[in-house]
Amino acid sequence: MYIPEDLPQRIKDTDAKVMEFLQPVFAGVEDIRDRNIVRVLNAFCNNRIASRHMGGSTGYGYGDEGRERLDSLMAEIMGTESALCREQFMSGTHALTVALFGLLRPGDTLLAATGKPYDTLLKVIGVDEDTTGSLKNFGVKYDECPFKGTNPDYEMITAKAKNAAVVHVQKSRGYSQRRSLSNADVMKIADLVHGVNPKAVVFVDNCYGEFTETTEPGHVGADIVVGSLIKNAGGGIAETGGYIAGRADLVEFCADRLTAPGTGGEIGSWPTGHRNTYLGIFMAPQITAEAVKASIYSAALYTELGFDTNPKPGEAHYDIVTAINLYTPENLCKFCCGIQAYSPVDSNVAPTPWAMPGYTDEVIMAAGTFTGGASIELSSDGPLREPYTAYIQGALSFMSARYALLKTAEGII
Ligand SMILES: *Cc1c(COP(=O)(O)O)cnc(C)c1O
Repeated sequence: MYIPEDLPQRIKDTDAKVMEFLQPVFAGVEDIRDRNIVRVLNAFCNNRIASRHMGGSTGYGYGDEGRERLDSLMAEIMGTESALCREQFMSGTHALTVALFGLLRPGDTLLAATGKPYDTLLKVIGVDEDTTGSLKNFGVKYDECPFKGTNPDYEMITAKAKNAAVVHVQKSRGYSQRRSLSNADVMKIADLVHGVNPKAVVFVDNCYGEFTETTEPGHVGADIVVGSLIKNAGGGIAETGGYIAGRADLVEFCADRLTAPGTGGEIGSWPTGHRNTYLGIFMAPQITAEAVKASIYSAALYTELGFDTNPKPGEAHYDIVTAINLYTPENLCKFCCGIQAYSPVDSNVAPTPWAMPGYTDEVIMAAGTFTGGASIELSSDGPLREPYTAYIQGALSFMSARYALLKTAEGII
């Protein structure tokens, strides 16, 4: 097995031990990858994706068949009736916001079933303050079910779902130390919620979750599934965009919010064309597997080096994130600087902590990415708060992440 020459022997030995331990784990990741590659290829064939769909349109984009087929392709992949898969979504947060505002009405309750949602959604919802323009500001109520130990609190979810219009479920750990959710977990929550309140919309934030299993939330009972194309679902090739997939009537509400009531999903041009979006979706299972391997490897390596990680080696990865508790701000900064220094783009840049829009604490971010901020590419960031956790995600190729992590370890231990 190839081990780069320019590493100290001590690091090489650790790497060899970790790589040997991980071989059967990687075989499992490759099995999921292969099944997803076939699943996605079949979706391309079933939707008759053609070369004429790669081109773009201008103006209103009426009759942009490439746009329409992207929607139906994503619907099939996500296991849903309908979808909006659009370059016009600027980020995951934007797609999630469009979906929440599309589905919720004044007086409705949004129930977060898996604890506090991802940081950038707190201001969208108005969790901590009545931010201007937040859901709370529009009269939408918010309630939350924190995790009970390592699992969602199923009893509390069942009790509170009776009064909820939308039940938010987040697959990925995000910037928290809880475990990621499998689609089996999503199914359990969806069944419980629909059992007590058939009208409740089970809303899954699928960011970082796509293609980590052989199914998607739409296959297991989610009513709406939302994600970003600069994470897993865009395969490192899509340059922007996101998706909202789900029940047709619900997706229509979201389409009316994305554009305007009356035009809904029928408009939207993307003059530079859809080629990279299609290609990215096609590559997504392959690239996600590389990222999952990087995530698994980083947990095993840093545990071996004496740090605490989440997930721990051997635990399941239903997202592409690994949290590494580095205990001091110095370590966190060194780690991020190391990842940046071994990135293909902007390797000469030294990241520093800053007050990033949408986040509560100062954040340090390493992202030497081809696509601005794309976290399907190797990137690492963490809020400057205890226990000084680096959240690492992505990698277009496992080997590049392995090398960057080994070089970074050299600087920390
Ligand atoms: C990344 C992420 C988001 C937000 O997506 P952005 O593209 O960063 O706006 C929301 N939820 C989860 C779970 C995420 O991982």
